[in-house]
Amino acid sequence: MTEFYDKVSERLIRYAKINTQSKANTGLDVSTKCQFDLAYELYNELKRINASNVYLDEKSCIVYANILANTSAKGFGLITHMDTAPDASGENVMPWILKNYDGKDVLLNKEKNIIISPKDFPNLLNYIGSDIIFTDGTTLLGGDDKAGIAAVMTFAEYIINHDEIKHGLISIAFTPDEEVGGLAKNLDFKRFNVPVAYTLDGDHKGYYSFETFNALEAQIKIKGLSVHTGTAKGIMKNAITIATDIMSKIPLNERPENTCEREGFYHPVLFEGTCEEAYLRILIRDFDKDLFNKKKEFIECLINNANKKYNDTIATITWSNGYPNMGEYTTKVKGLVENLIEAIKASNITPIELPFRGGTDGSSLSSRGLPCPNLSAGYENAHGRFEYVPIDNMEDNVRILIELAKIYAKEA
Ligand SMILES: [Zn+2]
Repeated sequence: MTEFYDKVSERLIRYAKINTQSKANTGLDVSTKCQFDLAYELYNELKRINASNVYLDEKSCIVYANILANTSAKGFGLITHMDTAPDASGENVMPWILKNYDGKDVLLNKEKNIIISPKDFPNLLNYIGSDIIFTDGTTLLGGDDKAGIAAVMTFAEYIINHDEIKHGLISIAFTPDEEVGGLAKNLDFKRFNVPVAYTLDGDHKGYYSFETFNALEAQIKIKGLSVHTGTAKGIMKNAITIATDIMSKIPLNERPENTCEREGFYHPVLFEGTCEEAYLRILIRDFDKDLFNKKKEFIECLINNANKKYNDTIATITWSNGYPNMGEYTTKVKGLVENLIEAIKASNITPIELPFRGGTDGSSLSSRGLPCPNLSAGYENAHGRFEYVPIDNMEDNVRILIELAKIYAKEA
């Protein structure tokens, strides 16, 4: 237990009780109003701990703050997201602390007999002896990403109160809608005002990522031709048949359920239609740019072939919702990833690299000019009712961030 124990646990519990669930496809600047409740809380808290330039952008729901430099060292930013995933309820979250976990089943909810067991979640066994924050098993906890916010806030307070620790400008942003593809799109780089940043998101202890997938989504529309079945021969073009034909050619061994580590995939996420019209949505993902481009060409080829086979304009394709592998950008900045690894090691934690099989706000930010690797926020079982956060994972992150500030100061 460190001096940060009370601070990080009180913070995570307070933030978790504020519902900030985001919502997909609303078309709004900020998908749900409730995210502002946490934004105001954090805004007021940043003021209380004497952070500088504290600002809440009322339109984008982004909270900004600075810890001003006390030396000429290079600055860096820290970004965490305030929303929780739409996958599980974030309302009436009831966080509680289990002290000194003994490796056995944990009763989360006596009334509903909800138990979390290491038989189902062996990751619990990594935390024997830890104090752990759980829920009552009916909602997510929201440690994704409020464990990240708790660590960043505690770090900020500590650095502000310890002027003897030399550091450059440290810029903080708390963002909305990460879980629904917000990509920190409204982050104001001028206000943020640092050349590089780190997100704190993701599970486990000591994990970091500087690579994400390259990503795109194919939206395929198939225009069929429906006529009476009695006179259909040689005339009808059934959009469902054509869609099935296309779908059947997407390799089964290159799907998310059959791939891992650095393997890319095709992921069909929508298949609907009538004889007259059908729609397909297929995600493509790959770390490797060439393999990614080949996947894109393959889908385009399937569409061309369908058009040749059935009619030259029967199927059309639109590409959207893309982001690049942030490794393209993060590896070009000297020291960016190395400093993070050094900070993790300096905190006596083993750094573990994990190419992130998804996207982060960092993938988009990196391609827009703010290279932004990720440090795990230390939660487990995110997006579900069995999410939990070992308190020492958050304490570790505070220590890692302090080391990071010191390492950047050495570069002055
Ligand atoms: Zn997250």
